Amino acid sequence: MSLQLLITGGAGFIGSHTCLSLLEAGHGLVVLDNFANSSPEALRRVQELTGPQAATRLQLIRGDIRSREAVAQAFRAAPIDAVLHFAGLKAVGESVRQPQRYWDVNVGGTLQLLKAMADHNCRTLVFSSSATLYGFPDQVPIPEKAPLRPINPYGHTKAAVERLLTDVAASEPGWRVAALRYFNPVGAHPSGRLGEAPSGTPSNLFPYLSQVAVGLRPTLQVFGADWPTPDGTGVRDYIHVMDLAEGHRAALEVLVREPPQLLTLNLGSGRGHSVLELVAAFEAASGRAIPYQVVARRPGDSPTSVADPSLATARLGWRTRRGLAEICRDGWAWQSANPQGYGEAH
Ligand code: NAD
Ligand code: UDP
Repeated sequence: MSLQLLITGGAGFIGSHTCLSLLEAGHGLVVLDNFANSSPEALRRVQELTGPQAATRLQLIRGDIRSREAVAQAFRAAPIDAVLHFAGLKAVGESVRQPQRYWDVNVGGTLQLLKAMADHNCRTLVFSSSATLYGFPDQVPIPEKAPLRPINPYGHTKAAVERLLTDVAASEPGWRVAALRYFNPVGAHPSGRLGEAPSGTPSNLFPYLSQVAVGLRPTLQVFGADWPTPDGTGVRDYIHVMDLAEGHRAALEVLVREPPQLLTLNLGSGRGHSVLELVAAFEAASGRAIPYQVVARRPGDSPTSVADPSLATARLGWRTRRGLAEICRDGWAWQSANPQGYGEAH
């Protein structure tokens, strides 16, 4: 089964890895991205990795999801069967300082996209949601039925879009929607050619410690060693970005194959790792020391966030296949070959 897919935000970290996986599965892609947080070089490398023949199945439209004309142009580029919607803003701290911008892009942009989908009779959508919706969970591992309690504007925009999608799917028959709640996407394609390229100082642990390992930053700050966790540092469910990409493929296939439905699924490994465990695994993978100092807790952090991924396994036949060692090996392959991200593109 070969589909024509619109991929918003396809040049970004998760989008680019998913584009590669979808091209390898034989689909045709129209990527819509304004490169607000990415580089066209990522898509050039996706094409390099797939080879020249598959590369012709990727079309790029540079444009903003909030622009009616840009979204219409993307729908004109091919008869779109389904949309994978990655485009959005994702920096928690920035969302606190610029909430209107986050609501505009994440919620307003999704509304624009939904209008265009309706105009083009396309009702199949995979949406990038987030485990941030669970806030401070009462129960770990966290099942999808856990209460949604976002604690920052970024999380509120994700909750609003999930609500919107639920309302839209209920308003008329035929909608096939998957809201995928990612836990902590990390790692890189094993080739070392694709990876995460944050602009400025990374706020997330994995890109930060990668930059310390490669010598771009002197020390990692560990935000608290007095959490109620086995070694006192925060515990997260780190998911290899290629496992995440495969989760999208699986979700898309289920949506297309089964009767219309709204699927809400956690995508995580079900295993938690502490900050210090990640540091040790990255040191082992890279052969580099990662100096760190323990500092105060970061405001808004929760001690532990780990997925219960059993629903995704049951519904999609999907589970993560790559563990912490592969995450760190592939993350290091990327970071060591591209210390400046796509900025020093070869
Ligand atoms: P990313 O910033 O690397 O990718 C987002 C892409 O969207 C970028 O290419 C960016 O240029 C593009 N974009 C932003 N605003 C746009 C606009 N107005 N019009 C068109 N394109 C626009 O982020 P990512 O890590 O790949 O995340 C992808 C999605 O997954 C986001 O919606 C994010 O909120 C969600 N998510 C990410 C994580 C994570 O930790 N990375 C966790 C949970 C959910
Ligand atoms: N963390 C840290 N130092 C950093 C960045 C993050 O100690 O420079 C910790 C953070 O407190 C949390 C874990 O690493 O326990 C993962 O943080 P990240 O921001 O990557 O993910 P999130 O907290 O959004 O799940």
